Amino acid sequence: MGSRPGTLRDARALADLEYGASRDEEARRRQEELRAAYLDWRAEEARRLARAQGITGRLRNGPESFLDEIDGRALRRCPRCDEIAYPDPERPGYERGSRRDVADRCHFCDSRNLVEVILSLTERRA
Ligand SMILES: [Zn+2]
Repeated sequence: MGSRPGTLRDARALADLEYGASRDEEARRRQEELRAAYLDWRAEEARRLARAQGITGRLRNGPESFLDEIDGRALRRCPRCDEIAYPDPERPGYERGSRRDVADRCHFCDSRNLVEVILSLTERRA
């Protein structure tokens, strides 16, 4: 931004823009936290599911074969922002019958109108 003198309206618009950007940044940072927490939980959950199969299943399916299933169950997409919604690990598990390990809210726009994800994280990485 230069030193061109602006009108009051410009200054306000700029302040709004900066406010929006810092809020975005905060949302991004939070999103990264949620993503990191999710990936930890997901790895743990995959190991748990792999162990629960018993010995014969375990030989066939390692923990990684459960990742897509877990993603499909836990992640949602916000159609408005086109962002992935991650489950919030800080949300109390007893909150109105909601499941703690399923995303229920878009972190960017607060929408609860989420849809199931089609592409899993595993597929997107490939
Ligand atoms: Zn959203």
